[in-house]
Amino acid sequence: MMRLVKTIFELRKVLSEVRSEGKSIGFFPTMGALHEGHLSLMRAARKETDFLVISIFVNPSQFGPSEDFAEYPRDLEGDLEKAEEVGVDLVFAPGADEMYPEGFATFGVQERLTHRMCGLSRPGFFRGVTTVVAKLFNLVGPCVAYFGQKDYQQSVVVRQMVRDLNMEVEIRVLPTVREADGLAMSSRNKYLKPTERQEALCLYKALNEAKALVAAGESKSEKIIEKMKEIVAKAPSAKIDYIVVADPENLEDIETFKGRTLVALAVWIGKTRLIDNMLISP
Ligand code: AMP
Repeated sequence: MMRLVKTIFELRKVLSEVRSEGKSIGFFPTMGALHEGHLSLMRAARKETDFLVISIFVNPSQFGPSEDFAEYPRDLEGDLEKAEEVGVDLVFAPGADEMYPEGFATFGVQERLTHRMCGLSRPGFFRGVTTVVAKLFNLVGPCVAYFGQKDYQQSVVVRQMVRDLNMEVEIRVLPTVREADGLAMSSRNKYLKPTERQEALCLYKALNEAKALVAAGESKSEKIIEKMKEIVAKAPSAKIDYIVVADPENLEDIETFKGRTLVALAVWIGKTRLIDNMLISP
C-alpha cells in the first residue's frame, strides 16, 4: 500500500522505520502534474531501490513574482493514482506552511553554476531550487536521488551542492523522455495551444540540427548556434531566451567541440517557456 504523508514529523517516523529494516531508499522530487517522463524515472528508480519516496511540492521559492506559480498545473488525486501504479511506496506532499513556516529565513545559493543559462533569465530560481532540494534531502536522509536530464543545469547544481555540503545522497540523472515527435515531456506543455504545440518542436529540431552538424564535422559553437537560431526563427511564436554550447560539468561556454558537449536552449513559445538539451559528442 502506498502511503501519503503530509507532515515532516510523519515522514521522518516512517523513514526511520524503513531504515531500521535495512532497506535502501530512492527519492524522486517533483512538482507534481505527473506525466510519462516522471513515471518513467519512477519505474527506473523502483527497480534500483527497496523503498521509493517521491515528493510532490510546487515550491513557491523557486518562482519569480511574474512567473506561473498560480497557474502551475496541480492534480494531487491524479498524481497519487499514477504513483501507486508505478509502485511508489510513499508520497510526501507537504503544504507550503510545512516547508516554509512563519519566520523561515535560510536560503541556498550557488554562484558559479547558477549565474548562467536558466539562472540568468530566472533570477532567484536556483536559490529556490537549492533551498527546497537541500530541505528535502535533509528530511529524506541518505538516499539515491533521481533527476531528469531535461533539467540539465538543475542536475549539475544539485550534484555540486551535495558534494560541497557533504550530503549523504547519491545523484542519478536519467535521460529525457520525449513525446513520439520528439518534444520533451513537461508539465508546462499543457499551456501550449494546438498551433504552439507544433511550433514547440523547434527546440528538438534545433538540437537535432546541432547533432547533425557535429556529425558532419562542424566544431565551431558559433556556427552551430547560428543554425539553431535559424531553425527556431521559423516558428512564428518562438522567441529565444538562450542557446548555449557548454562544458557539461562546469557549464562554461565552449568555442570548439572536443569531447562530450552540452547543447542547451530555452525558448518562449508564446507565453510558455520551454527548455531542452542534448549531450553531443563529435
Ligand atoms: P518537475 O516536476 O517538472 O520539477 O520535474 C521533476 C523531475 O522530473 C526533475 O528531475 C525533472 O528533470 C524530471 N523530468 C521532468 N520532465 C522530464 C522528462 N521529460 N524526461 C526526464 N525527466 C524529466
